Amino acid sequence: MNSISKTRERLLKRELSCAELTEMYLAAARRENGDLSAYTLITDEEARRAAAEVDARLARGEKLPPLAGIPFVLKDNISTKDIKTTCASRMLEDYVPIYDAFVWSGLKEQGAVMCGKGNMDEFAMGSTCETSYFGGAKNPHDLTRVAGGSSGGAASAVAGGVAVYGIGSDTGGSIRQPASFCGLVGLKPTYGAVSRNGLIAYASSFDQIGPITTCVEDAATVFDAICRKDPADMTSRGAERVSGRLHSDVRGLRVGVAKEFFENLPAEIASAMERALDFYKRAGAELVEIAFPMLRYCLPVYYILACAEASSNLGRYDGLRYGHRAETFDDLDDLICRTRSEGFGQEVRRRIILGTYVLSAGYYDAYYNKAQALRRTIKNRFREIFTKCDLLLTPTVPVTALKCGAGLSPVETYQTDICTVSVNIAGLPAVSVPCGFDGAGLPVGMQLIGDKFTEARILSAALAFESGTGGAYLKDSGRGVSL
Ligand code: GLN
Repeated sequence: MNSISKTRERLLKRELSCAELTEMYLAAARRENGDLSAYTLITDEEARRAAAEVDARLARGEKLPPLAGIPFVLKDNISTKDIKTTCASRMLEDYVPIYDAFVWSGLKEQGAVMCGKGNMDEFAMGSTCETSYFGGAKNPHDLTRVAGGSSGGAASAVAGGVAVYGIGSDTGGSIRQPASFCGLVGLKPTYGAVSRNGLIAYASSFDQIGPITTCVEDAATVFDAICRKDPADMTSRGAERVSGRLHSDVRGLRVGVAKEFFENLPAEIASAMERALDFYKRAGAELVEIAFPMLRYCLPVYYILACAEASSNLGRYDGLRYGHRAETFDDLDDLICRTRSEGFGQEVRRRIILGTYVLSAGYYDAYYNKAQALRRTIKNRFREIFTKCDLLLTPTVPVTALKCGAGLSPVETYQTDICTVSVNIAGLPAVSVPCGFDGAGLPVGMQLIGDKFTEARILSAALAFESGTGGAYLKDSGRGVSL
């Protein structure tokens, strides 16, 4: 695993050309992808084009932006003009966007080198990457385990050394959870910090794009590169840059601890959390007890609202305009029905049906409206919490990477999102940082949740932990490129 700064240094010192670096990553990606399924598509041509441009800029002695020349993986729900964007769905198996997502065009302008599109749960619905139409991404630390979801491919590629960093999306935990499973840093930015223009929508009031990286510093670098106001996304505001504002002094920092997040944890995760809390205490932070009784409502609120939004967002896949179209049909209704039944996998269909149900006349008040009211209550509670503490420390996931094909029921799978969804319900920023290992040596992650637009604060606290523990919880999978 490499960091952005280390890779950049090699490029700037001209020890390695960007073309050479890119070939190393492309070759490693081809070699490893059979095991990892991290990429749905390896984009050699685009990577080589970008690398040549960076080499030309270097030759001219130009100053390079921070991400220029750095190979990365872009989740396959982020639109790339003239390059397939599948959402890991049969519905979009051959879909080629006619425009770039705002985030991707910004990265391209910087000279970022996209090695490929990251595998994911179909339409970002899932927690294991196993709902991918192409088969799930594997965990580079143990190929019998999942990489997590839904941005499992991005996490697998970064931990597997076939991308330096990844760009994922997080609707209910999809950046933080795979980061936690793969021993990486995953940042879900404040809602509105990053433009969603060109991100194929799952649940628009929850979705947010963010980085998956090998260290905290890289998360800050990528965040700065992608958080810009975009006139085409009315919910985007951009955010202040964080690099250069990070520090690792946590003296006086008020770290909130809500016991609800720590209930029924497996012993190894509980002890990793204890150690992390102890670290902050010894470093001079103050631990503040917080009550968050509404945690028990977070999963139902999330799954009602996210499914409702999904049922509406996914209405556009009708077989008429783009995407999969059934070959045989009787009439228009039959065409739409067959197209959607064939094009969507089981989990996506389940959520569309759930969402349609909670929005239907007669059930709207009982489910959708109630969930909206609770969303407001949860937001208000967070507002109160952040008058009492500066950030909240929780586990990222109450389990470590699941076995592939573990066969959990849908509800059991949803339950593993218990620690992450409240952050999206309230539109807050949160980062997952590696903080331990279970008995099998699989990574454990902790989550630091902040108030809106306090990315610099949560990343500073994450940096304090990472540097204060000497990187003890960063684990190399021994795969891919090592510089
Ligand atoms: N696991 C959650 C879900 O299935 C979150 C997914 C995401 O953040 N995209 O909805």
